[in-house]
Amino acid sequence: MIDNPLMNKKYLLIDLDGTLIDTADITLKPMKDGQVNTNLSRIQVFEGAANFLAEAEGLGFECVILSDSHPKYVNPIVRNFFGSTPALSLADKPNTLKALNFLQELGIEPLKSICYVLGDSWLDVELGRGLRVPTILTEFYEAQTLEIRDGIGDYIKNIKSGPTYFAKNYSEILEILRNPLQKLLCLEAGLRGINSCIARKPHPDIREEGKWSVHRTLARQAPGECDQYNATDKYFEFNRADRSEQLLHAVRDSVIAYVDRILSNQAYSWEVFTYVPDKGTTQPPNKMGELFNLISKQIRQTTPHLACLNIFEWSDEVISSTRKQPTAAERRKFVGSNLNLQPEVDVRGKSVIILDDQYTTGATADALTEQLQARGAQNVLFVALFHLVSPVNSSKLCPRCLANGLTKQLQIKIKRSDGSKFYSCVPPQYRGDGCGYTENIG
Ligand SMILES: [Zn+2]
Repeated sequence: MIDNPLMNKKYLLIDLDGTLIDTADITLKPMKDGQVNTNLSRIQVFEGAANFLAEAEGLGFECVILSDSHPKYVNPIVRNFFGSTPALSLADKPNTLKALNFLQELGIEPLKSICYVLGDSWLDVELGRGLRVPTILTEFYEAQTLEIRDGIGDYIKNIKSGPTYFAKNYSEILEILRNPLQKLLCLEAGLRGINSCIARKPHPDIREEGKWSVHRTLARQAPGECDQYNATDKYFEFNRADRSEQLLHAVRDSVIAYVDRILSNQAYSWEVFTYVPDKGTTQPPNKMGELFNLISKQIRQTTPHLACLNIFEWSDEVISSTRKQPTAAERRKFVGSNLNLQPEVDVRGKSVIILDDQYTTGATADALTEQLQARGAQNVLFVALFHLVSPVNSSKLCPRCLANGLTKQLQIKIKRSDGSKFYSCVPPQYRGDGCGYTENIG
């Protein structure tokens, strides 16, 4: 094997506002935009930020700051608080072009080194995905309102952007940098033969009338560009008739590891474990049922008090599918009127874990939780294997559109039939605005 000296290089590309400095205050906006001079006495550095940079450097990382704010704001702040750390202003996230040029000037090749993007918004995550490196989404403070920073405080949007990791403080980030594989999501780690019980919260937990409704996902299904840990190809394999036993077993083991962790928490008790069944017409048939049977076979041995049951059934007349309903409201209505809690099932006072394959808007989770709680169920935990996150374009442009004077970015797609990857200038029939040009990859 040829030793690649670049692979020993480690880089941390860090957002400034909200990640190193506490600047959610809307009155700082004219400074960020360079309309007024930056008053350093108004800039609050997060406690431990400088120490965090020093510790990351101690782990061998070179830090680089990438900020969308104006150089009149970024440069004095970095010089004053973070010494000689290189910094790019007006980075134009989530577009990768300026960041790539800046990194090239610094002699940094993200794909040939160990590189992470760290930040507190979907802009940072989508930038990192565009660079195809792992991302760490931070949440150091709660935004005061959803509007205060152009939706940046929107938890769901940030999570939906598909970060590899999520961290609540600097020491969690350092843990990720030390043990990147062990800190992957449960199923993403499991597919690499590594144990993790980490799940993602695609929606804030809800507590109404003393009952919890909780959603969790175990891997990312990422349309377009992403880091190497995403499980998109496995999602497609899982849905094929010729899926491998190896995949099925890896999924089984990951779900069991996660459910075991949930059951080991003595603060909550769970009485029923169930799943979202496939419709009779689904191809391949019984894809979730087969997985559920494998999982419950083991859970029945270790946890006999947990009833593993199929309690939902599709109505006979159902012809369409949840995936074909365009909005969350329509999905919820579709599931609510076609997938029903069987009439003889008694869930009064019981807490229920539901397993599903894909999480998109949470509509299925909401509709089933509503049915369960209407029939007297206590807490509901909805666990989905794959979380469909936002699409991210590649920096590659469509040659056919370019020849017609149009600039359209291609998206990486995966063929359902064989899992192969291709670039697509996504046409309207797939909810894009491109010309339909495709090009095989690899
Ligand atoms: Zn095109």
